[in-house]
Amino acid sequence: MSTSPVEKRNLSLLSVVVPCFNEDQVIREMHRRLVSALEGSASLDFEIIYVDDGSRDSTLDIMREFQRDDQRVKIVSLSRNFGQFVAITAGMEHAVGDVVALADADLQDPPEAILEMLELWQKGADIVHGLRIQRPGESKFKIWTSRTFVRIINKLSDTQFDRDIGEFGIMDRAVVDAFLSMPESQRYVRAMLSWAGFRHEVFPYERQMRFAGETKYTLKKMIDTAIYSILSFSIIPLRIATWTGFLFSGLAFLGIIYTLAVRLFTDAWVPGWAIVFTAILTLSSLQLICLGLIGEYLGRTYIEVKRRPLYLVRERLGFAPESGVE
Ligand code: UDP
Ligand code: MG
Repeated sequence: MSTSPVEKRNLSLLSVVVPCFNEDQVIREMHRRLVSALEGSASLDFEIIYVDDGSRDSTLDIMREFQRDDQRVKIVSLSRNFGQFVAITAGMEHAVGDVVALADADLQDPPEAILEMLELWQKGADIVHGLRIQRPGESKFKIWTSRTFVRIINKLSDTQFDRDIGEFGIMDRAVVDAFLSMPESQRYVRAMLSWAGFRHEVFPYERQMRFAGETKYTLKKMIDTAIYSILSFSIIPLRIATWTGFLFSGLAFLGIIYTLAVRLFTDAWVPGWAIVFTAILTLSSLQLICLGLIGEYLGRTYIEVKRRPLYLVRERLGFAPESGVE
């Protein structure tokens, strides 16, 4: 039965997915705040799925404690670090709720906001994104790089999204199923959700400081993620290479005519090594860049055609055998 936007939707189970990579300093506080926020709504049934993304500290042991004390807690422990986006996908695959919420483990995104986002879902939104109106504790450099990156990706691809949204948000089961039906191994969650369509709403909130511990995104990881996301979502860089190629062949053609004219009709034939040298340098470096670019895409195609599983699970805890999740 389809639900009209005005009619209130019925929520029988909410799943909250929390990806965690070496978060033993924050996860206790996160769990406490998340559970007390969700219990604040008496009528709400929920499950919390912690995805241990190959943590090397005691994150998994702490999760086990939660799971021992509370049947609503489930754990998916991956065989190694696969990265936040894959960890989120793993959690979503294990979630059975009518609505799935995504939240970081470090309390930068206040778990209490999930309940407010649910109200928007009840009014008909299929996806509610948290919109960061304040980002304390994030360096100016980090904010600038992430905004610039979103500006570039919005220009380069046909998906559009706000520069201040992250993964924090909730989505309807229909969106979860759509997301999981996308088979690619390079999963830039935000852009994939934007591509999927559905009814989007934003929920403005103040992003908090990380409760404890360090960001898991080093500069290198940020650059890798940016390249990964752009190349997985757009073929325009390849097209730019082609356009530049055309531009330079146009210039080369003019150069040839000029050279012939000078050679045939004037006596001013000078060696002119500098221009030749510069032209060779420019053109060969341009060719290398284009080749590298093609190589990047080829490499990514190669990764996709291998059809490896997106992630491997070392251990699952708290899932009922009949839930269909082995
Ligand atoms: N995370 C993860 N795998 C990774 C990196 C990060 O599961 O390889 C998780 C991390 O534990 C946190 C969330 O993704 O719950 C966001 O990471 P972080 O807070 O370090 O990113 P930032 O907020 O600095 O962008
Ligand atoms: Mg964080």
